[in-house]
Amino acid sequence: MDFLVLFLFYLVFMLISVVMICICSKTHRLKGLVQGGAQIWSCIIPECIQRAVRKLLHYLFHTRNYTFIILHLVLQGTVYTEYTWEIFGYCQELEFSLYYLLLPYLLLIICLIFFTLTCLTNPGTITKANELLFLQVYEFDEVMFPKNARCSTCDLKKPARSKHCSVCNWCVHRFDHHCVWVNNCIGAWNTRYFLIYLLTLTASAATMAIVSTMFLVHLVIVSDLYQETYIDDLGHPQSMDIVFLIQYLFLTFPRIVFLLGFVMVLSLLLGGYLCFALYLAATNQTTNEWYKGDWAWCQLCPVVVRPPSAEPQVYENIHSHGLWRNLREIFLPTIPYSERKKKEW
Ligand SMILES: [Zn+2]
Ligand SMILES: [Zn+2]
Repeated sequence: MDFLVLFLFYLVFMLISVVMICICSKTHRLKGLVQGGAQIWSCIIPECIQRAVRKLLHYLFHTRNYTFIILHLVLQGTVYTEYTWEIFGYCQELEFSLYYLLLPYLLLIICLIFFTLTCLTNPGTITKANELLFLQVYEFDEVMFPKNARCSTCDLKKPARSKHCSVCNWCVHRFDHHCVWVNNCIGAWNTRYFLIYLLTLTASAATMAIVSTMFLVHLVIVSDLYQETYIDDLGHPQSMDIVFLIQYLFLTFPRIVFLLGFVMVLSLLLGGYLCFALYLAATNQTTNEWYKGDWAWCQLCPVVVRPPSAEPQVYENIHSHGLWRNLREIFLPTIPYSERKKKEW
């Protein structure tokens, strides 16, 4: 019972934290909280440890490195090994449909192909050779992207919707964000691969959660576990309830129940992020623009607190041209990768 209560608290805490970070990331409250936390941290922790942690965080999040790619592959490998080792075998014995059991493997192959493409594809780096070509693609809105702006690091004219990535040290056309999980920027030429990768990753986690749940439910039904009784702490016989059943399954199949909890949390988090990414794609915004933009709904949102000095300014998205044209722009970029190569060579 204690384990379950703690696990549920942990789950609710994690989900609330993620939602709060999403809401607060547009406000100054989060920055205040981070600064306050950093001050307390600097008083308690010795200087040498602080320096080491700062160095590690800088390496992980502000330099190009393969740490998260390796972590991603290790986690995916562990989940699939457990699925193959236990769930697949048990489900075959229970005569589950083979097509259904093989679906996670099919999704894994597609996911890995698009993961590799996202990692390796040029996101749309701006160079002296293609600068003029990119300058013609999007209109300058004079609010977020002024005409004649230059990147001081690359010494190049900044095309509308581009941004300099401080991690990769280059300017990227239609810059979305820098993703540590793929060790690459997400821009004009790889957003399509990133979306399919995200979609298949979410689908594989959800499929695995469904198969694992079905296996456990099937097991409970076949063995008539729900009709059993157990003796409680006071020595009284009690009929089986859902909490005791989950606890019993956890003790009997610890790895499978742990895997189920993990893929369920992952499905919820990835599903939430996928919805956000699809919303951005459908409305032709990048994460960078969404973050910077002062949208009309934000003015009405009671959670958002604006600094008193800030002028209320509603940013108008001039790049959205309807759902299909917006999606076509992502999947068939205005300047294809091959054209850029031709012009450069
Ligand atoms: Zn730059
Ligand atoms: Zn980058």
